[in-house]
Amino acid sequence: MDEVDHRSLGSRLDLWHLQEDAPGMVFWHPRGYAIYRVLEDYIRTRMRRLGYAEVRSPQLIPRDLWIRSGHWDKFGENMFVVGSGERPMALKPMSCPCHVQIFNKGLRSWRDLPIRYSEFGACHRDEPSGALHGLMRTRAFEQDDAHVFCREEDIQREVARFIDCLSEVYTDFGFPEFDMALSTRPALRAGSEDLWDWAEKTLGDAATCSGVSFSIQPGEGAFYGPKLEFALRDRLGRSWQCGTIQLDCVLPARLAASYIAPDGRRAVPLMLHHVVFGSLGRFVAILIEHHGGVLPFWLSPEQVAITPISQEQADYATEVMNMLDACGLRVIAYGGSETLSRRIVAAREAEVPVMAIVGRREQEDRTITLRERDGAQATLSWADASAALSSRH
Ligand code: ZN
Repeated sequence: MDEVDHRSLGSRLDLWHLQEDAPGMVFWHPRGYAIYRVLEDYIRTRMRRLGYAEVRSPQLIPRDLWIRSGHWDKFGENMFVVGSGERPMALKPMSCPCHVQIFNKGLRSWRDLPIRYSEFGACHRDEPSGALHGLMRTRAFEQDDAHVFCREEDIQREVARFIDCLSEVYTDFGFPEFDMALSTRPALRAGSEDLWDWAEKTLGDAATCSGVSFSIQPGEGAFYGPKLEFALRDRLGRSWQCGTIQLDCVLPARLAASYIAPDGRRAVPLMLHHVVFGSLGRFVAILIEHHGGVLPFWLSPEQVAITPISQEQADYATEVMNMLDACGLRVIAYGGSETLSRRIVAAREAEVPVMAIVGRREQEDRTITLRERDGAQATLSWADASAALSSRH
């Protein structure tokens, strides 16, 4: 494995592991899970500000629901079935039908729409072992799943909001360039040809209005509707398909979703499905490879490694650590009996971006010496150090 392969970086940096007796299942170690949590917190805040309400649905769902939704036909082979007898259950491969269950638990009016739900949906798919590849393809993963229940007139605006959001998110994570493609009706599909004509045109028009150019991927749509797919480009020029938004005119009707239309009759909502990251674990792997394991400050599992020069400053080091922690920074203590130079080397090997070193002088002056990866260092007051670190991206 080469130097930028996420599998070797994941093990060198102690981020996660996979093991033979649990193929495709990720064991996240503290440092890897810290990165994962940054992604989760980031997208959670984004979704909330865009008007999405976060929900949580069960892992284990009656197989009957998957039969009604049509997933059993299409995905049955890749689903983990649990139990038998009167009520066989299956681990969810996606959260869509669950969100329809939440939507259905209430009388909805056209005035309530769009209704937007988001979930860190923990999914299981029984991928063939030959298809598994590190964090890029696993059997258990979590995605930043979201669904919008809306009317035809909402589609353009919702799609535009999503594309804007996705573009900002990818830029924030260091991927300013991405490609968009419209995937059209697949061979195995639900719904009439008229419905597909309408759905492909509607999603295509919304894509055109966004101003982002796109290509067509014939036959690559979901069984319930066309999709827009987004592939970001990494530092090595490789392309990774991550985001997608899909227009669905099939599932809501199959699962009996309805709302009261302006004329007082019941109408079936449209449903948009989308993810920005896709699998969070896979996105972590893409980030790790993109950055060659040296993550920017805001994504680093530990941002500051604090170390006293001698044991006499141990209490002062704890005081500084608590202060930086209270500022929302991820801080780790590098104490112990090893020499200072050995501790500096260890922090560098772990790719911790900043070391906070406190000796006798720092303790007397109530200051902190911050040392960068490149060796540059400065001694600052608590207020200046915390302001400088908190403003870093
Ligand atoms: Zn969905």
